[in-house]
Amino acid sequence: MDRIQRVNNRYQQLMQQADSPHEWAYAWRTEINRGGFRAVDFLMQTVVDAGKCIGCASCVTICPVDVFDYTDEQPIDTRTDACVQCVLCADVCPILRPPDQDLPQQLNFREPKTQESYGPYSYGQYVRATSGDIQQASQDGGLVSALLIHGLETGTLGGAVLGDVVDGNRQIGEPRLATDRESVLACAGSRYTYSPNLIALQQAVRENISPIAVVGVPCQVDGTRLQQHSGIRLELANWYRKNISLVIGLFCSEAFTHESINQLAQILEVDPLSIANINIKGKVVVRMDNGDVHGVSLKKYREFARPACLYCLDYGAENADIAAGGIGLDGWTYTLVRTERGHQALQAALADGWLETRPLSDEPRGEMLMKKLSADKKKNRPLPAQMPSLAERQALNYLDPKTFYTKGPGAPSEES
Ligand SMILES: Cc1cc2nc3c(=O)[nH]c(=O)nc-3n(C[C@H](O)[C@H](O)[C@H](O)COP(=O)(O)OP(=O)(O)OC[C@H]3O[C@@H](n4cnc5c(N)ncnc54)[C@H](O)[C@@H]3O)c2cc1C
Ligand code: SF4
Ligand code: SF4
Repeated sequence: MDRIQRVNNRYQQLMQQADSPHEWAYAWRTEINRGGFRAVDFLMQTVVDAGKCIGCASCVTICPVDVFDYTDEQPIDTRTDACVQCVLCADVCPILRPPDQDLPQQLNFREPKTQESYGPYSYGQYVRATSGDIQQASQDGGLVSALLIHGLETGTLGGAVLGDVVDGNRQIGEPRLATDRESVLACAGSRYTYSPNLIALQQAVRENISPIAVVGVPCQVDGTRLQQHSGIRLELANWYRKNISLVIGLFCSEAFTHESINQLAQILEVDPLSIANINIKGKVVVRMDNGDVHGVSLKKYREFARPACLYCLDYGAENADIAAGGIGLDGWTYTLVRTERGHQALQAALADGWLETRPLSDEPRGEMLMKKLSADKKKNRPLPAQMPSLAERQALNYLDPKTFYTKGPGAPSEES
């Protein structure tokens, strides 16, 4: 048996035996070190080749010797021979392990800690930007863009790691380090395809721009936290720990494939390049450049969800400082303040008149959806390492991440 297979077997064994999955990290780190081989090989075989990679890019941005390139939502170990066997790439991969048990202390979740199925938070509100240009550019209430611009203009932030749009297709995202109002507004709004925002961390490190805010979907929030709080205290992990001062998470049921945009345009018989914005509000709402608005059933569109999103159990960005979504009141951002840092950023923008708020009780459906969508995402799902690989799911002819463990082959049988 080769070494990777041996470590993988041991890893699987530990997962089945451990009382808490948070303990695995210590055990398998030791295994990897003892194995005397490169963690990158273990990562590529167990996560990437198995089709379990969610594309967060954390392995790419933590590697101190630039082993990886990133393409088609996955890392490629282009320069494997440069590997210095530091184990960081495997240590920060959200698929290989959940964050360590002491992460809540490190993040300083704010009192009172309401412990919900969607992670601890201190308070929740509907929030909207007061400035017309921010409101207009944004997906929902513009909370995210307003907080960033406020931070940049008052000096609490030096830059923000965001998702921009690629030239020629506004529904496809690409990473961007934004440092002023104009660049934040260029990135505002949501792309429902995957945007590897974290890659912009490399530019922040290179240019030593700080303090940094990171905006991302929950897998990217976890990737950021694992990089900041890795037990392997090498220079890059230390840089992220010291200089990332605010992490804003976006609620996320799933992201969609690039191909989904063409499929959506085909269903609607429109030009995909004329789609100005897509929003998901129970159904898929598509706004065109000429002002037309179309609706498509979410069930239909969901056929084009990224298969990799099966390996994700987090809807509410549970480890963010502030988590934000579009459920509830139209034109407002459903906002959860989780940590002390999140509280300070929100209160500073409120005090300066950049934001207005309404209580969640103004539209109670938001809270109801929050509970339901978070619960749905965890229902019957084991941790990623115990889920079938993409090839195994292809053999079952069932790739829908949303229903695999509720209605698909992973659902409990009638008798159980
Ligand atoms: C893939 C995806 C799935 C989502 N799913 C849900 C959901 O199921 N339920 C829900 O309530 N909300 C969901 N959201 C969040 C919602 O669309 C809004 O982002 C959120 O309400 C904040 O709105 P805002 O007006 O405050 O943000 P804005 O001020 O418009 O700022 C949005 C920020 O999101 C970043 N961004 C845009 N696209 C992406 C992307 N693809 N990946 C990472 N970052 C990006 C931009 O850089 C920008 O800074 C999802 C967002 C994304 C990107
Ligand atoms: S899930 Fe993230 S850290 Fe893990 S292999 Fe994929 S890109 Fe790298
Ligand atoms: S569902 Fe999870 S893995 Fe997929 S994009 Fe959203 S946060 Fe990332």
